[in-house]
Amino acid sequence: MDYQTHEHDVLVIGAGGAGLRAAIEASAAGVSVGLVCKSLLGKAHTVMAEGGIAAALANVDDRDNWKVHFADTMRGGQYVNNWRMAELHAKEAPDRVRELEAWGAVFDRTKDGRILQRNFGGHRYPRLAHVGDRTGLELIRTLQDHGIHQGIDVHMECTIIQLLKDGDRVVGAFGYERERGRFKLFKAKAVVLATGGIGRAYKITSNSWEYTGDGHTLAYDAGAELVDMEFVQFHPTGMIWPPSVQGILVTEAVRGEGGVLKNKEGRRFMFDEIPDNYRAQTADNEEEGWRYTQGDKAARRPPELLTRDHVSRCIVREIKAGRGSPHGGVFLDISWIKARVPNGADHIKKKLPSMYHQFKQLADIDITQEPMEVGPTTHYIMGGVRVDADTQMSTVPGLFAAGECAAGINGANRLGGNSLSDIIVFGKRAGEYAAQYAKTQAGANIDTRQADQAARRALEPFERSTSGEGPYQVQYALQDMMQDLVGIVRNENEMQRALVGLAPLRERANRVGVGGHREYNPGWHAALDLHNLLTVSEAITRSALERRESRGGHFRDDYPTKDARFGTINFVVRKGRDGQMEVFSVAIPEMPAELKQVIDEMQ
Ligand SMILES: Cc1cc2nc3c(=O)[nH]c(=O)nc-3n(C[C@H](O)[C@H](O)[C@H](O)COP(=O)(O)OP(=O)(O)OC[C@H]3O[C@@H](n4cnc5c(N)ncnc54)[C@H](O)[C@@H]3O)c2cc1C
Repeated sequence: MDYQTHEHDVLVIGAGGAGLRAAIEASAAGVSVGLVCKSLLGKAHTVMAEGGIAAALANVDDRDNWKVHFADTMRGGQYVNNWRMAELHAKEAPDRVRELEAWGAVFDRTKDGRILQRNFGGHRYPRLAHVGDRTGLELIRTLQDHGIHQGIDVHMECTIIQLLKDGDRVVGAFGYERERGRFKLFKAKAVVLATGGIGRAYKITSNSWEYTGDGHTLAYDAGAELVDMEFVQFHPTGMIWPPSVQGILVTEAVRGEGGVLKNKEGRRFMFDEIPDNYRAQTADNEEEGWRYTQGDKAARRPPELLTRDHVSRCIVREIKAGRGSPHGGVFLDISWIKARVPNGADHIKKKLPSMYHQFKQLADIDITQEPMEVGPTTHYIMGGVRVDADTQMSTVPGLFAAGECAAGINGANRLGGNSLSDIIVFGKRAGEYAAQYAKTQAGANIDTRQADQAARRALEPFERSTSGEGPYQVQYALQDMMQDLVGIVRNENEMQRALVGLAPLRERANRVGVGGHREYNPGWHAALDLHNLLTVSEAITRSALERRESRGGHFRDDYPTKDARFGTINFVVRKGRDGQMEVFSVAIPEMPAELKQVIDEMQ
């Protein structure tokens, strides 16, 4: 078949924060760069990010530095993180944020004109550089404004469905234009995946339609390894009412600004259970917690700002015990701070403008006057493509990954704010090393039979047309199953049922039919997403079955405690020779003495 063909030294798949930053860096290194994305440029999921970018700038609290950030990230990830990534991230995030400022990002300011930083869960000091609660928008706007002057070729509304290989090496990608349905072939010396997450594998999620696990699956199908796939983050506070908005995020910044969680009895239940490793850092009482949110350096954080995995489980506990709110969540109240802050209602609107509008418009709730109802929502995946910490190269030559589709930095649980810093730190590194790699490579052989096969497979749903089942029914069945059986609280029996349930879903996915033609056909796009959703669901389920303990975002009621034996390993998934998914464990490399010392000092 003939395809529209493009050739670049480096092809970046994904135009969120990680992809844009990678493309900018690769281009600055003097190679030609193509940037592909499913949506319009500027609409990537990063745009939804609210609370801020974690970086130890020490603008608000001068006790902060990379060591504290590193120790916080490792503690949050329960020490199964890739420590080298956590180290690089903590050291380089401040420069990446200052660079954004130099490129025109308009951050909120301290009184003396520096970048303002706010409190967030699991961060010892106020660390999140932010722009109200619209930080992602500013990050994307800045990178996009900067990037479009770098000579990057942008291919918008184009979905990549397969990576192309020459022997072991990745040498390009194949996809289709979402508007017209025409196929496109990209030749490249290096490919960077920056495709984001997997949230659409679950029924309740804060994630956008783009989060169908594409990069995870493209990498897996190309022979790369995935790691930490059992670690899915369920953010404690998503909207729960009305049903049409269920899952939409309520930023942690609400709690950072003093918002408190209460059950239907009006009690602040978060004081009931403080994990041992956070006891010394947590406020003894409500008064101390409030002082912390207002910048009192002698005070410790309120328990609402403990890590997300813990807060989510406390909320589930309250709901299960019958102490939840009328629509099956708990109450999050920021309106109470009016009693403490002059012009409180205006203060809330200024600090949390998106939240104010979100609740007013979607739920007819004025958050300056009454509490919100919230509950956990699938938010982020810590697992992803297994990469080298320094270069971001995957286990397949020529294939790099950065951002949410890569893994390592977060371990078992991500701290809020650490993703926006992750995507700019490792996006830059991926671009730099992909360019370096591309410069060493001669042009590759493109075997168009790989593309032909992918094209034929992609068109099969049209052959079955309306005689096949609709793709959405299969997608909904998968989402229900993952939510119910591989969700916040897991056990062997339910996950085995999920594993068994995946096989018939895959058969149904192979038989879906789509009517109409290739132009503007969302049903067709949904049909093609199914393979990705099923692949990541299987990877999550298989890895979660292997981790017979509870750690971070992965909680099992049949193994409710942490087990030291699992504290030294990560689970890796890859495609076996027989085409079946295999899971195995790898030992976490020994941490250098100087990093161990940092962790000990920060206890
Ligand atoms: C509501 C919300 C609020 C958040 N707030 C914060 C916050 O305050 N701080 C923080 O640190 N984190 C936050 N996060 C998490 C953070 O926003 C994301 O983890 C991060 O933005 C991911 O960036 P990325 O560059 O990896 O991917 P994305 O920004 O999702 O970009 C992915 C790109 O890949 C493209 N793509 C995907 N598949 C394909 C394909 N097959 N072919 C071609 N292109 C493809 C997409 O079109 C898109 O351009 C928040 C998340 C949500 C949902």
